[in-house]
Amino acid sequence: MAVPKSKITRSKRNMRRSHDALSAANHGECPNCGEPKLPHHVCGSCGYYDGREVVDTADSF
Ligand SMILES: [Zn+2]
Repeated sequence: MAVPKSKITRSKRNMRRSHDALSAANHGECPNCGEPKLPHHVCGSCGYYDGREVVDTADSF
């Protein structure tokens, strides 16, 4: 429900925002090149997944 801005105290506003913080994304290391990569994702720097190259990265970038 919409409440006038002037009715919300700094305290209540800050209590609401106490849950708004973002946390860092979960990531691990690529076992092939050691770069940080997201779990269950192909490595963005070497193109490896599950021990084999699944994306050709030679011509990209
Ligand atoms: Zn990699």
